[in-house]
Amino acid sequence: MTAAPSDHAILFTPGPTEVAPEILREMARPVIGHRGLEMQAILADVLPRARRLFGAPEGHEVFITASSATGLWEAAIRNTVERRLLVPVCGAFSERFHEVAVACGVPADRLETAWGRAVDPDAVGERLARGGYDAVALVHNETSTGVANPLPAIAGVVRRHPGVALLVDVVSSVAGMPVEVGRDGIDVALASVQKCLALPPGLALCAVSPRAMERSRARAGKGYYFDFVRLKGFFDRRMPMATPSVSHIFALQAQLRRIDAEGLEARHARHRAMADATRRWTAERCAFFAADGCRSDTVTCVSDERGLDVAAFVKAVARRGYAIGGGYGRLKETTFRIGHMGDHTVAEVTALLAAMDEALGEVRR
Ligand SMILES: *Cc1c(COP(=O)(O)O)cnc(C)c1O
Repeated sequence: MTAAPSDHAILFTPGPTEVAPEILREMARPVIGHRGLEMQAILADVLPRARRLFGAPEGHEVFITASSATGLWEAAIRNTVERRLLVPVCGAFSERFHEVAVACGVPADRLETAWGRAVDPDAVGERLARGGYDAVALVHNETSTGVANPLPAIAGVVRRHPGVALLVDVVSSVAGMPVEVGRDGIDVALASVQKCLALPPGLALCAVSPRAMERSRARAGKGYYFDFVRLKGFFDRRMPMATPSVSHIFALQAQLRRIDAEGLEARHARHRAMADATRRWTAERCAFFAADGCRSDTVTCVSDERGLDVAAFVKAVARRGYAIGGGYGRLKETTFRIGHMGDHTVAEVTALLAAMDEALGEVRR
């Protein structure tokens, strides 16, 4: 039986992802005060690197919060939306983005897309043309279905409506697929760090446009912890707002340096190559949940027409030392997901796929 070359289950889950040993060691460094010169120097290095990761120009703010991305969903909505939010829903994460808006007391409409399909830019345009909206909240890469939405095209449609801000969840795309905040006119791009950034979970990042800052200045009732204006007051001085997860910030600095050393384009190409290998495996043995033409380069959602026992398959893969994801939400029993994201190589994906072949032989009758 194949076994992963590791003392622990190697993570190919679509979050959290496998963390490099040298990054884990950063988390074990002695803690420093978060108001001292050392932290200021770290943030002075980290913030421009994070800005480049998002493709955000000078003038956009970058904030780091001690939360996961869910906290920044709330931040994006509470700081920028006053009238009505449009949420294209095409899977479990976009569904939850809408739920967060409702929980924040913001009027929000769902624009339904069949799960497994990408959001249609024209459908977004039609809804916006009816008027009444001041923001769109989009999930770029729907991790539950393995669909990458056509962000540049949707952003182009939103830009034709000058009073409509664009809030984008790039949680499972940034650092694995191109994200261009400046080019696409994205007002808030937000991400947690346990996906393509391959850090331990517990930190989130966002890039915020001048227009979103302007809206935040005018907004009442946006809370305290995630108030963009308050955050800017601290980050302008290279200081975290409240006590951050200092250990995570060490790890973030080290990881952003590794990402810059690899080069973003090379990193994207590596993700595409890992996706291609996974897609070849899937095409020969199972079926894709996501429609052709919109499949993600960071996560593949696999369905099986022969009625595979997904739970048994995931367990059989786990016995070989690899963790893959089961289906998410209502797709739990009918799909499984491979997170080919973060620091993995094509060789490591190939080893995983060999273990998956053995597991399939064991479970399929
Ligand atoms: C994982 C994920 C989230 C949830 O992020 P948390 O860090 O758990 O808050 C949100 N959106 C997408 C697309 C995700 O993949």
